[in-house]
Amino acid sequence: MDEAGVWSAMSEREFIPYGKQLISEEDIRAVVDVLRSDWLTTGPNVEAFEQAVAEYVDMPFAVALSSGTAALHATMNAAGIKPGDEVIVPALTFAATSNAVCYCGGTPVFADVNPKTLLIEPEEIEKLITDKTKAIISVDYAGQPCDYDAISRIAKENNLCFVSDACHSIGALYKGVKVGSLADMTVFSFHPVKPITTGEGGMVITENKNLYQQMRSFRNHGITTDHRERQKKGAYSYDMVDLGYNYRITDIQCVLGKSQLEKLDSWIVQRNNIARKYDELLKGDSRILTLDTNQNNISGYHLYVIRIPGFDRDDVFQKMRDKKIGVNVHYSPVYKHSYYQQLLSKNYSLTHTESAANSMLSLPIYPELTYDDVFYVVKCLREILDKMSIAKY
Ligand SMILES: *Cc1c(COP(=O)(O)O)cnc(C)c1O
Repeated sequence: MDEAGVWSAMSEREFIPYGKQLISEEDIRAVVDVLRSDWLTTGPNVEAFEQAVAEYVDMPFAVALSSGTAALHATMNAAGIKPGDEVIVPALTFAATSNAVCYCGGTPVFADVNPKTLLIEPEEIEKLITDKTKAIISVDYAGQPCDYDAISRIAKENNLCFVSDACHSIGALYKGVKVGSLADMTVFSFHPVKPITTGEGGMVITENKNLYQQMRSFRNHGITTDHRERQKKGAYSYDMVDLGYNYRITDIQCVLGKSQLEKLDSWIVQRNNIARKYDELLKGDSRILTLDTNQNNISGYHLYVIRIPGFDRDDVFQKMRDKKIGVNVHYSPVYKHSYYQQLLSKNYSLTHTESAANSMLSLPIYPELTYDDVFYVVKCLREILDKMSIAKY
């Protein structure tokens, strides 16, 4: 390679994804140790991970499952959702939130979001409550805690089950209290782009022993005891009391989760530092809107979301991707998916959800992202917007 070739190879940037996991040598060693042990699944590491997360959020019960989606399904089953029941969910979320309602035969009812935070709006929830409403699922969009006080009050007043889809927000704080202890059941996901990972995995946190026992049985075919409990007792018989699933998670995954959990708080700090850097660099540019944040809370910053309402978002998306910057869109309104268009009898058109969905971009954010990367992302974005502004006139 000639000198020029060397220089261009050196200056060529690698693709920057919008999010990614960070795996240490300790994580790898922990996983390898489990592979050499007797228990690959339903073993001591599942319980140890559950206990570690329960302790982390200061709650008595945790049930680990094969994914965040399985965890959401378990909450809807434990809440007794059945055909004819309605569950209120935000329209701006990943489809898994409302899919969980559908798995149980219930009907998701979509609520609009706050235009400044993109969090589910408590006033919108209240408007949607009917005789059929049984539960509310909130979402801590982008990692920012939703209005837990208002939603808890609405749930209590109307005798509804309150489930928090906190797949974005493990490690976040609401008025100084960890997310995980603020709803009847709280769901975490451990997919690789989420704050900590087990590869695939999820968990439900609760204070209620009945719900806890029901969800444990639900993840194991509806059987009341698991393999390890029977081995301890030297018993073979078991009873299947309900139609459950195989939603178990392995010890291989749980030991990784436990090892990752030890870094969570420092990663949340790093994510907040990256977000502050973006805030600082984007401040004063009236073309770019950032999300409002509540100063009483600390966001987990799973996502850093901006809106560019004056521009062709899809065009900006493509031009950023051409620069090898993995911007993304979180999310299209759930009710716009073909499946929901066919399923729903109601024709939704939620103002704030749709206007946000049409103008939003998620910029890269993850603990390993450097300030240099952040500068580069903002520089590229500015240049693209500058060129498009000129082209307009
Ligand atoms: C990731 C995610 C889920 C699903 O979690 P999985 O572990 O991928 O099944 C559910 N809800 C939200 C808001 C998510 O971001």
